[in-house]
Amino acid sequence: MNILGMTFDDLVGEMASRYGKGRCHAAMLYREIFRRGNPDWHRTDLFRASPDLTRQLVQDVDLWPGRVQQQQTEGDLVKVAVVLRDGQVVESVIIPMAERTTLCISSQVGCRMGCRFCETGRMGLRRNLTAAEIVGQVYLVNFILGCPVGNVVFMGMGEPLDNFGPVRHAIRVLTDDHGFNLARRRITLSTVGLVDGIHRLAQGGAPLPQLAVSLNAPDDRIRSRLMPVNQVYPMADLRRALLAYPQRPKGAVFIEYVLIEGINDRPEHADALADFLRPLRAKVNLIPCNPCSGRPFRSPAPEAMDRFRDRLLTRKIFVRKRAIKGQRVMAACGQLGKNI
Ligand code: SF4
Repeated sequence: MNILGMTFDDLVGEMASRYGKGRCHAAMLYREIFRRGNPDWHRTDLFRASPDLTRQLVQDVDLWPGRVQQQQTEGDLVKVAVVLRDGQVVESVIIPMAERTTLCISSQVGCRMGCRFCETGRMGLRRNLTAAEIVGQVYLVNFILGCPVGNVVFMGMGEPLDNFGPVRHAIRVLTDDHGFNLARRRITLSTVGLVDGIHRLAQGGAPLPQLAVSLNAPDDRIRSRLMPVNQVYPMADLRRALLAYPQRPKGAVFIEYVLIEGINDRPEHADALADFLRPLRAKVNLIPCNPCSGRPFRSPAPEAMDRFRDRLLTRKIFVRKRAIKGQRVMAACGQLGKNI
C-alpha cells in the first residue's frame, strides 16, 4: 500500500476493504504521515491500542520516497537527485523565495517532447513516474530534508500532461485537506502545450492547478523549429485551449519565454508575441537561454533582454525577467538530467 500516492478517501477505502476499519484509523494514519512526516506513526496511542492491526499495517504501508543520491547547492538553491526503487534517478530543485519555498518537481524520468533547448529532452523518455513518486519528492524535501514546501511547480524533468493520470492524482494528494493541503494557487503545472491534455485537465474538475505554458516563440515557424510539439498542436489551437481553461477570478496563465539570441529575441518578435497574447489574461516570464550541450543557442545580452521586456510593456503585456539561478549546478530551466 503505497501511501504517498493516496488521497485520504483512497486510504479510507483501503482501511475498510483490507482491515475492516473506519475513518478514525485512516484519519490518524494520514495525519501522522502527511502533516507530520512521522515514520513512527505506529507508536501513537490509537495504533498502540490495536497491536494486531498495527503489525499488519507496518508490513503493508510503504512510505519510501526514494533515496537522496546527491545535493548540489548554488547560493540558496539546492538541486536534489533522488534514486527510485528501480535505480532510475529524478531531480527536484528547492528554490527559496521571499515568503515561502518553491519546489520544482519532475513528472517523468527524461522526456520525449524533444525541445531543442533542453537537456532533459536529449535524454528521451525513460519512464513515467507514479503518483507516489511525484508526491514522494515533496514528502522527501518537506520531512526528510526539513525544508517546508510552500509552492510546488511541475517544471522539472518531463512533460506533466504526457503522464496525465499520475500527475492529476498527485495533485489531488497534494491538495487533500486531510494532508498537505496545498491551495490550488500554490501548484503550477507547466506544459509545452499538449492541447488535449489541457482540455482534459479543465474538464476533470477541481483541484485545477495554475497553468504555465512554455511558449518560447512568437509564431508557428519559429516555435516548430524549437519545439516539435508545435507541429501537432499549433499556436492557434493552444490559445483556444488556454482561453477555455478555467481561471481564478484574478488568475492568469503564465507564459514562459526562453530568449535565444538571434532566434526569438527581436523587436518584431516581441510585437508578434504581444498580438498572440492579447486575448489572454497572461503573465510573461522571460528566461535567459541556459547552455545546453551540443546546441549553439545562447542567451541575449542583459540589455537586449531589457529591450524585449520594455517592448512588451509598451504593448501593455505583464512581463518580468526571471533571475538566473542554478546554472552552475545544471539546475536552471532546461538543464535537469544533464548528469543522469
Ligand atoms: S522543456 Fe520540458 S517538455 Fe520540453 S523537452 Fe524539456 S522537459 Fe520535456
